[in-house]
Amino acid sequence: MVTSNKDIGIIGGGIGGFASAIAFAKYGYRVTVFEKSAVINELGAGIQISSNGVNALSKLGVFPKYLKKVVFPNSIIFKDYKTAEHITKIQHNQNSDLPYLHLHRSDLIHALASCAEDLGVNIKLASEAKVIESKDMASKIKANNHIYDFDLIVAADGMNSRIRQYWFGEKPACFMNQIAWRALIPSNGIKIDPSVYMGKNKHLVIYPLRDGELINIIGVQSNKNIAPQSWTNKGSTRDFFNEFSDFNTEAKHILSKIKEVKLWGLYSLSPLKSWSNRGVVLVGDAAHPMLPFMAQGSCMALEDAVVLARDFKETHDINNALIKYEKNRKRRVTSIQKTSKNNGKIFHISNNLLRKIVHFSMWSISRLFPLFLENRFRWIYKYRA
Ligand SMILES: Cc1cc2nc3c(=O)[nH]c(=O)nc-3n(C[C@H](O)[C@H](O)[C@H](O)COP(=O)(O)OP(=O)(O)OC[C@H]3O[C@@H](n4cnc5c(N)ncnc54)[C@H](O)[C@@H]3O)c2cc1C
Repeated sequence: MVTSNKDIGIIGGGIGGFASAIAFAKYGYRVTVFEKSAVINELGAGIQISSNGVNALSKLGVFPKYLKKVVFPNSIIFKDYKTAEHITKIQHNQNSDLPYLHLHRSDLIHALASCAEDLGVNIKLASEAKVIESKDMASKIKANNHIYDFDLIVAADGMNSRIRQYWFGEKPACFMNQIAWRALIPSNGIKIDPSVYMGKNKHLVIYPLRDGELINIIGVQSNKNIAPQSWTNKGSTRDFFNEFSDFNTEAKHILSKIKEVKLWGLYSLSPLKSWSNRGVVLVGDAAHPMLPFMAQGSCMALEDAVVLARDFKETHDINNALIKYEKNRKRRVTSIQKTSKNNGKIFHISNNLLRKIVHFSMWSISRLFPLFLENRFRWIYKYRA
């Protein structure tokens, strides 16, 4: 067992960083989080957390205590982009001991940060950090001209992780020729079932948030023109509407209400050779950037945190603990990266005939076997970290 008299430094105060901070602090380790932003903030957007992610949140003590204004959807309906006809659906809470959640990202990050603070985690904001030395049980972080010593450094610095590039010699994540539009609108009485409209080279995802006060909208589109990875990059509401103007009236009614939209490119990376280098270990998007078509990126970051801290606590030697963590996580995460990529292909079939055949097959299967999709994705949702 690695004793609790250890210092853990975490770079990145996002979902993976705060979840890791909580997981280590719960075992009694001293934890410091370095976040480069001056305030704990998240973009105004929704996030889906499936039961495997909720399991991790409940092991961390965040769900239900710290989470407010959650939506518990029963299902998500897959529809034709032109007619809004129902093709198939996934029922979320069928045979599950834990719910599926729709959350505002900012509510989730504040819940994680509050829980971390209550556990005594030292949170250093406005602290862009870098690793200046990586050794077993003696690594160093530099931030704001101070040098800090740690027994273990957890790099949770996201999709564009500098630490992954510098300490693991990996390339930056690649543009996947797809862009995502993201917006929130007040619901003002609009009632909408959580829906995915599958179209030609594009799809729309729409679901309610914050006790139904808001509606979250994501449009993803195949596009050769590179777009920045920045989540704060502004887009044009008119362009968004025009790009999806061939969609049905139900979807277009919602798109017409958008006052502000963010636009960014989708990036990904092939599985890394290794997730740890002596005293530095990667979690979340830093370890495994993925496309968002299974809504699992944050869920994987939450699971990583629970498994990493437990393996560290239960294994005598730090190197063995990090090898065990990677072994416990890599296969699952790599499979989810692949599944997510495949889903993107199904959501965007460009050939009209092929799309009709696929949609008809999905429709027929769901009539014959109503739980087909739940069973197909069971290995993702039923996993308990
Ligand atoms: C369109 C879209 C929809 C998505 N929807 C879902 C969904 O429904 N469900 C789901 O589970 N996932 C979803 N995801 C994926 C999810 O957003 C990511 O997987 C998740 O945010 C990863 O968390 P992270 O903590 O690893 O990284 P991030 O959230 O990127 O956090 C990294 C943090 O590190 C900080 N940082 C970076 N460098 C430094 C440094 N040098 N020093 C200090 N701080 C630093 C950053 O400021 C940031 O706060 C979606 C993604 C996209 C693109």
